[in-house]
Amino acid sequence: MQKMPSDIQEKSQNHSKNNVSKVPFIDFSTQYQSIRAEIQSAVNSVFESQQFVLKEHVPRLEKAIASQLGTKHAVGVASGSDALYLSLWALGIGEGDEVITTPFTFFATAGSISRTGAKPVFADIDPKTFNLDPAKVREKITKRTKAIIPVHLFGQSCDMDEFMKIGREHSLAILEDAAQSYGATWSGKQTGSFGSAGGLSFFPTKNLGGAGDGGMIVTSSDELAEKLRILRVHGSKKKYYHDFIGINSRLDELQAAVVSVKLKYIDDWNKKRQEHAKFYDKSFAGLPLATPYSPAKASPTYHLYSILTDRRDELAAHLEKNGIGCGVYYPLPLHLQPCYQFLGHKQGDFPVTEKTTKTVISLPMFPELTAKELERVVSVVREFYR
Ligand SMILES: *Cc1c(COP(=O)(O)O)cnc(C)c1O
Repeated sequence: MQKMPSDIQEKSQNHSKNNVSKVPFIDFSTQYQSIRAEIQSAVNSVFESQQFVLKEHVPRLEKAIASQLGTKHAVGVASGSDALYLSLWALGIGEGDEVITTPFTFFATAGSISRTGAKPVFADIDPKTFNLDPAKVREKITKRTKAIIPVHLFGQSCDMDEFMKIGREHSLAILEDAAQSYGATWSGKQTGSFGSAGGLSFFPTKNLGGAGDGGMIVTSSDELAEKLRILRVHGSKKKYYHDFIGINSRLDELQAAVVSVKLKYIDDWNKKRQEHAKFYDKSFAGLPLATPYSPAKASPTYHLYSILTDRRDELAAHLEKNGIGCGVYYPLPLHLQPCYQFLGHKQGDFPVTEKTTKTVISLPMFPELTAKELERVVSVVREFYR
């Protein structure tokens, strides 16, 4: 992988020198400045070609990502949400089927299940990893269960040994939601590459973010890849002849060109996130809060750095007052969302998830955070507990 441009350190120091007391939750402009020339030339090349839909950049990015994640195929689509939706559809999941997933995730995970006509069935999470608990998933399997969607939340892999085992034992498809976990591994193998398929997102805030919406499905199944390529262009293999009723869901050339540039740096950026996380972990030792826990086989890429504290709302107010960005992912679990009332859940159905939504808070995390900024975050957090 190519190294970071040498000016990035300088730029990052500049952004901290200007404003040491304030630390944003996420900052895009420093990263953009560091690769500005490359991004602009990539975007220009698309405009010069005047080819905007499924030409050279998309297949090139598909090949590069399949090769990096170790899958046979990758299929570019319009968003991470569509990546999940189309994968379920291509797996033949629809009305009358059940798909098990976590209530502690971004809405799109469950939304994609509902869009196929299938029913999202929730199972509780592990209190330490925030990820779907395989034992709780087993309890939810019925005759109607067709698939499981483990979500690699905050950039940390689920226990893929267990999920692949459950899939084999019950003949269930495993669809990985890897929207937050680009580059994260389990036993050295890339998230997204274990199951029947994996969904990636290039939403700008994700570790590998584009300049708008975009997504990709990775899979090693020839059959699934072929079906997905057809579904994303209205179900037609030969133009204007339709074997299926598909939809329009394509990654566009501009997004593919931008993501291709960023792909060269993603390993370095993820490494920086890991270094920042290590610094936070060490600096928060001894405080009455829980830092992110990682099982030995997981190598997280810290899409978010999320801690648990009983005084969450007070800490959030203290951080904000002191100019430190923070966020709550996620404040309301999916089983208690108004739109899922028809599933008939109530408070107390998933106690670990519910407790986590009340105690979780995410601190500033992006590759370009400087040492000074990290120290500032730590000192404001430590001050809160004094
Ligand atoms: C972002 C995200 C998605 C959806 O991706 P989009 O590209 O925004 O549609 C799905 N699942 C999870 C866990 C996400 O964080």
